[in-house]
Amino acid sequence: MTVPPGSTIGIIGGGQLGRMLSVAAAQLGYRCHVLDPQAHPPAADVAAFATRARYDDADALRRFAAGVDVATYEFENLPAGALDVLGDKLRPGTRSLAIAQDRAEEKAFIEGCGVRVADWRKVDDIGDLRAAVSDLGLPVVLKTRRFGYDGKGQAWIRSEADIDRAWTAIAGNPAVAEAAVDFAAEFSVILARWDDGRRTFWDSPENTHRDGILHLSSVPCGDACAAQLPEARAAALRIAEALGHIGVLTVEFFAAKSGPIVNEIAPRVHNSGHWTIEGALTSQFEQHIRAICDLPPGATELVGTGASMENLIGEDVNRWPDLAADPGAHLHLYGKGEARPGRKMGHVTRVKRR
Ligand code: AMP
Repeated sequence: MTVPPGSTIGIIGGGQLGRMLSVAAAQLGYRCHVLDPQAHPPAADVAAFATRARYDDADALRRFAAGVDVATYEFENLPAGALDVLGDKLRPGTRSLAIAQDRAEEKAFIEGCGVRVADWRKVDDIGDLRAAVSDLGLPVVLKTRRFGYDGKGQAWIRSEADIDRAWTAIAGNPAVAEAAVDFAAEFSVILARWDDGRRTFWDSPENTHRDGILHLSSVPCGDACAAQLPEARAAALRIAEALGHIGVLTVEFFAAKSGPIVNEIAPRVHNSGHWTIEGALTSQFEQHIRAICDLPPGATELVGTGASMENLIGEDVNRWPDLAADPGAHLHLYGKGEARPGRKMGHVTRVKRR
């Protein structure tokens, strides 16, 4: 079912991803309605309508559902049950959400698709954690099953003495323990899928992190990742098909010696795809809108020979005057106000011209 330009797109979550989706949607003649519990979410500056409501506010969601032609979400820590009121209007559907928001469900699902993840164990108590460490060997990374992002809700265990501290660090929440992957590099496969199975991929960025937060994404990726792309793309596509996913799906990989290993999936546009705004013929944001509205796919080739995207985290944003004066820098600021440590305040993309 095509949702024509002029229609209203609901976006659940009003962060920077919702903001960039709203800009792309406006370019195609859509109006966006953002729902977010915050007073001044970044997307509200650019969306036509904004509702301030909790994500589990059934009345607000019912009104929101009645006022939009199609709806999507920009982050996965949402109560899947409460979004059922959106029915078929929600793209991707609640299945993608429910699986991606729980690390144990996600890993089991990925393995069910015949795709590899790091060796892992479910951890519900300290006894499970001791058993996991003894099974997996050290080092191990303990991650909460839910609500973790940007390295939050994670604790590394490098010796037996770290076990109690790690369990306290994640406040004893339901978790998974993962064996440490010895990787040469990290990369992501970003794809968009249509209801009828059509799909497009972008060049895969190689990603480097600082303190558990994405720092830099560059395309084309280096040789270690490039050698694994055919297998990784096929794996990402199997996951997208099994989810019946509509819209952009991101699969983050470790390039291990033994081949690609999935770290995690995001059922949405992704920080490692921000370079596509200037670096690809169609951005991940526009393509997501095209896929959920059932417009034809846009071309995804690079516009130059490559691109790099650097995140502006916390105080990095104070570099804006220099970046604004740099003719090779595409500066994006998210309008977030206070530059707290670890907060994603903006990003800057540089395109390598032919
Ligand atoms: P995550 O929040 O799960 O994406 O983890 C953030 C970052 O921590 C990843 O991008 C990796 O750099 C690192 N990391 C997470 N899990 C593992 C693992 N099992 N082995 C090695 N490094 C990891």
